[in-house]
Amino acid sequence: MSKKILILPGDGIGPEIMAEAVKVLKVASEKFDLGVELEFDDLGGAAYDRYGVPLADETLARAREADAILLGAVGGPKWDTIDPALRPERGLLKIRSELGLFGNLRPAILYPQLAEASTLKPEVVSGLDILIVRELTGGIYFGKPRERRVLENGERQAYDTLPYSESEIRRIAKVGFDMAMVRGRKLCSVDKANVLASSQLWREVVEEVARDYPEVELSHMYVDNAAMQLVRAPKQFDVMVTDNMFGDILSDQASMLTGSIGMLPSASLDIDGKGMYEPCHGSAPDIAGQGIANPLATILSVSMMLRYSFASGQAADAIEKAVSQVLDQGLRTGDILSDGCTRVGTAEMGNAVAQALKNL
Ligand code: NAD
Repeated sequence: MSKKILILPGDGIGPEIMAEAVKVLKVASEKFDLGVELEFDDLGGAAYDRYGVPLADETLARAREADAILLGAVGGPKWDTIDPALRPERGLLKIRSELGLFGNLRPAILYPQLAEASTLKPEVVSGLDILIVRELTGGIYFGKPRERRVLENGERQAYDTLPYSESEIRRIAKVGFDMAMVRGRKLCSVDKANVLASSQLWREVVEEVARDYPEVELSHMYVDNAAMQLVRAPKQFDVMVTDNMFGDILSDQASMLTGSIGMLPSASLDIDGKGMYEPCHGSAPDIAGQGIANPLATILSVSMMLRYSFASGQAADAIEKAVSQVLDQGLRTGDILSDGCTRVGTAEMGNAVAQALKNL
C-alpha cells in the first residue's frame, strides 16, 4: 500500500532545503521499495499569500489524510507586520494542535566529524546523544486567557496563561519514559516546581507515571539548572522531558552543542504515532535565496519519518549512514565549516547525500 506524504516547504530557506530532502526521500523510496506518494501544499507566509490564511482548511484536510507530513520552516520579515492572528507561526501552531501532535522529539546528536564545529570543547561534547521530549500542544503557547490591555492608569499590560492538565502531562511523560526504555534508561524531567503551580503538578504526575517504569532512572531538575548543566556537562543526559516553552528554549540550546541548528531534525507525534517531521531551525531569512542553507536537518527529518511513521528502520539507518559518509568526505555547508573541509551549497550537499545513499 502506498504511503501518502504531505510536503509543506514553507517560507525562507524552506523550499531550498525541502528540494534536497525530497531528492533523498525519492532515492530511499526507490531503493527500499517504500511506495511513497508525495503531495505538496503551502503553510505559513506562503499560505497567507496564496489562501489569505497561514493554514487553509483544505491544507489541514490534506494533512489529516496523509500518513505523515514533512515541513520546511515558516516565517519571515515579509509577514512580521500583518495581523498577529494571521502570522505564519500561527499556521504552525494550528496544524500541531489540530492534529494533536503533542509529542515533540528533538535529538541532539554530535556527529564525531563535527566536534570542531561546536563552540564547546570537543571533550565536553564528543559522543553527545541527547533526546529532548517536548510537550507541544499545551502550556503557555496555547493557554487562555492571553491578553493585552490598557490599565486604568493608562499603562499597557499583557499576560499569558500556563495551564497543564493531568492527562496532558501523563501522555508526554509516557513518551519520555518509552524513549528512555529504548535508549539509556535515564530520564530527566525539567520543570520550575519551586515557583510554578503547573510545574508542581507536572512533577507529581511524572512521579506517578514513573511507577510503571521501574527500570528507568528518573531525576528532576529546575529549568535554570538544566540550562546550565547542558553547557557544563551535557553528556550526563540521556532523555529529557519538559513542557512546551522550556523545551523550545532548551532544545535550541542543545542544538548549539552539536555545532549548528542546521543539523537537527525533529518529529512531532500524535497518540497513534502519526507524525509531522521538520528541522528544528526556522526559515533563516538572513540566508534565504542564496543556496547556502544546510539541508541536513531536513534530510535527517526524512530519516525520522521513515523510522517512526513507516517503521522502515533500515531505510532510516541508510539515510543517516549516507549523511555520515558525506561528512567523512569533508563536505560542509557554511554553518558547519571548519579548516580543511570543502564548502558546498544546499543543492551540492543534497546531491552528495542522495548519491551516497544510492551507492550504499
Ligand atoms: P532561524 O532558525 O531561522 O535562524 C537562526 C540562525 O540560524 C540564523 O542565523 C540562520 O541563518 C541560521 N540557520 C538556521 N537554519 C539554518 C540552516 N539550515 N543552515 C544554515 N544556517 C541556518 O531562527 P530565527 O532567525 O529566530 O527566525 C527566523 C524566522 O523563522 C522567524 O520568522 C521565526 O518565527 C521563524 N521560525 C520558524 C520555525 C519553524 O518553522 N519551525 C522555528 C523557529 C523560527
